[in-house]
Amino acid sequence: MTAAPPWVAMYHSVGDCFEDPYRITVSPDRLDRQLSWLRRRGLRGVSVGELLAARARGEGRDLVGLTFDDGYADFVETALPLLHRHDCGATLFVLPGRLSGDNAWDPLGPRKPLLGKQGIRLAAASEGIEVGSHGLTHIDLTRADDAVLRAEVAESRAVLSELIGARVDGFCYPYGTLDRRVVDAVRDAGYAYGCAIDPGPLTGPLALPRVHIGEHDNAVRLLLKHKLHRLRRRPVVGIR
Ligand SMILES: [Zn+2]
Repeated sequence: MTAAPPWVAMYHSVGDCFEDPYRITVSPDRLDRQLSWLRRRGLRGVSVGELLAARARGEGRDLVGLTFDDGYADFVETALPLLHRHDCGATLFVLPGRLSGDNAWDPLGPRKPLLGKQGIRLAAASEGIEVGSHGLTHIDLTRADDAVLRAEVAESRAVLSELIGARVDGFCYPYGTLDRRVVDAVRDAGYAYGCAIDPGPLTGPLALPRVHIGEHDNAVRLLLKHKLHRLRRRPVVGIR
């Protein structure tokens, strides 16, 4: 079955966006309004796992995937209560090699704390929340040698699965960079799906495109992004 890939939104941090050179932050107020917008349109944000399961049953036309990359501590403090207020779920992609660390991979600040073991377990146990792997340490996997690639992909899955006491089905490519070798490593490690940004010809269940949603995305911009998605994306074999 071939169809346009499902709509998956990409978020990172939710908090004060006064200093935000990488445009990874949305304010709580903006997220609140974006989730309200979704609900007003009869849509509901869910984890990617839930979205793909619904699509596989031929359902889920009213669902959109919500993803939060890097596992910032503000996910539990700020994003989670807003998601629950709007009856939405999400997938949180964390870095088991940087537990309780920060976004040290971004050369510019500001430094933002990442969740530790407790926070990740809390998120995983929350209604509608799925925890996936973002690799161990946030490196560009296309530049990693085979041993490092395997560790980042397979070891992060094992460590995370042990940490939350559940299967880990989702992987998210750091920086959205991927090639055939990296996608194969994700498949070989046993993941059911992979989240990318603009995977081009590699688009498929293991390389799902996502739409960046930022602080400036008001109702009009969200509507445009939602409508353009279907036109811009290549069909995916195996996803309905
Ligand atoms: Zn990231």
